[in-house]
Amino acid sequence: WVISVGISGCSIAKGALETYRNLSLHLSEGHIPAVLRQVGCGGWCFAEPFVEVKLPGHPPIVYGWMTTDRVPELLDALRRGDLRPDWALGVRAAGAWHGIPPLTEHPFLRRQRRLLLEHAGIIDPESIEDFIAIGGYRAFLKALFEMTPEEVIAEVKASNLRGRGGAGFPTGIKWESGRRTPARPKYVVVNSHEGEPNVFKDRRLLESNPHLVLEGLLIGCYALETPCGYNYIGGEHALALQRFQRAVEQAYELGLLGDDILGSGFSCHVRIRTGGGAYICGEGSALMYAIMGQRGQPRTKPPRSVEEGLWRRPTVLNNTETFASIPAIIQNGGSWYASLGTKESTGTKLVTMQGPVKYLGVAEIEFGLSMRELIFDVFGGLREGYRLKGIQTGGVSAGPLREDELDVPIDFEALTPLGAMVGSGGFVAFDESVCAVDFARYLVAFSRYESCGKCTPCRLGTPALVEILDRIRHGFGRPEDLDIIQYASKHIIELSLCGLGQVAPMPLLGMLERFRDEFIEHITERR
Ligand code: SF4
Repeated sequence: WVISVGISGCSIAKGALETYRNLSLHLSEGHIPAVLRQVGCGGWCFAEPFVEVKLPGHPPIVYGWMTTDRVPELLDALRRGDLRPDWALGVRAAGAWHGIPPLTEHPFLRRQRRLLLEHAGIIDPESIEDFIAIGGYRAFLKALFEMTPEEVIAEVKASNLRGRGGAGFPTGIKWESGRRTPARPKYVVVNSHEGEPNVFKDRRLLESNPHLVLEGLLIGCYALETPCGYNYIGGEHALALQRFQRAVEQAYELGLLGDDILGSGFSCHVRIRTGGGAYICGEGSALMYAIMGQRGQPRTKPPRSVEEGLWRRPTVLNNTETFASIPAIIQNGGSWYASLGTKESTGTKLVTMQGPVKYLGVAEIEFGLSMRELIFDVFGGLREGYRLKGIQTGGVSAGPLREDELDVPIDFEALTPLGAMVGSGGFVAFDESVCAVDFARYLVAFSRYESCGKCTPCRLGTPALVEILDRIRHGFGRPEDLDIIQYASKHIIELSLCGLGQVAPMPLLGMLERFRDEFIEHITERR
């Protein structure tokens, strides 16, 4: 037998370590000849802790909700030959097995297209052998021995991969600009800060397949011909940090990092830096100051970071998910990748969904799926007793969509005219019980709290918005408050120095546009 337990941030919170220890205790008694191993998160956070069991002659069966108290019952049942189909999420096989349907037919997975998450929840994230066994580092070796740096960039450009951090800037063009800037040395940086509320896709990726991100970073360093890469990881993502650190150590041990990698003449060293929790350090220029040991605050642009970044040298910075997409592009070709998704938004996107949906977790979808399909087909719709009112898009950086607007396709362009955005892929479904004023206050208060205070419109404007919203919520709002919100928001958006301030009022403006009646009701009826 081989028994695997998903150990990740989400599963630990739901008792996976206790499940693992209990399994270890039972197996140590020697009645079951099983190997116990750990894997990462498969994305099905709703069913954590999960356990995968591979019995001789059987395809692996994934069981959900395996809290420690259920371990003895599962082991007893399996010993009796009872496969407990009622606890199974699915079987990793082409067809059904003893009444257990294939995992790929689970409603949560049926509409997904998993490139980045293909092996999440299957391989041991702390084993480079596991990663190599599924074809890991093949793309890096292909780039290193069969392609020039220019050819690597040409493939990335052909893929039309757009940055997954939120802005959606074409990655190939950014890499090309960095390459063209003559100053040396150059730097390549992974942004694994991920400090936005309700977004947890990068940390799950690092927890489940850290070598994939490292491979993407190595290819980026090769394309820029730089021996120096960084990953800046949010300090609060302890397991992601630990597993990426381990991945780097293993890559050094195997000679995939270091001087003259595998005799190719290319050298590359990767360093890890951790954040202290300030959201603003996810902004590119602030992140670079933080890496240099300075206060993490944004600066004015130009110069762009591809001209002057770390230590005033050309620096290419991309999101974790962006780097994780690179190996598949190099391996299969840019045009293959460009055939996925929509014309302008190619490939797949990791998305997280919060709120009272049935299947909470991380999903990977092809661009072009509609928002309605995402909520109802992938995340299973709302749980019993809830009625969908809308969905907050783009983390804290964009407006919501009403229930009747959900047929819009998910891509970088289609959402923009509606005041919504893909952003980093964090969505929150909210139901009829959620007050739009309260929700807007929560979102603006986050930006107020995380404002670095460097520029006046953001430093003073966001608290002013929160103050007005508090007045309205508590029944002391004035009819002119809605105009003041519009006026103040316009100035915050136009005059703030960085992206945080420039988008801070967007969720509020979106809520006001779509649920204006609720704001008016608070003002007129609750005084
Ligand atoms: Fe700092 Fe806000 Fe100004 Fe950005 S917009 S520099 S977060 S004060």
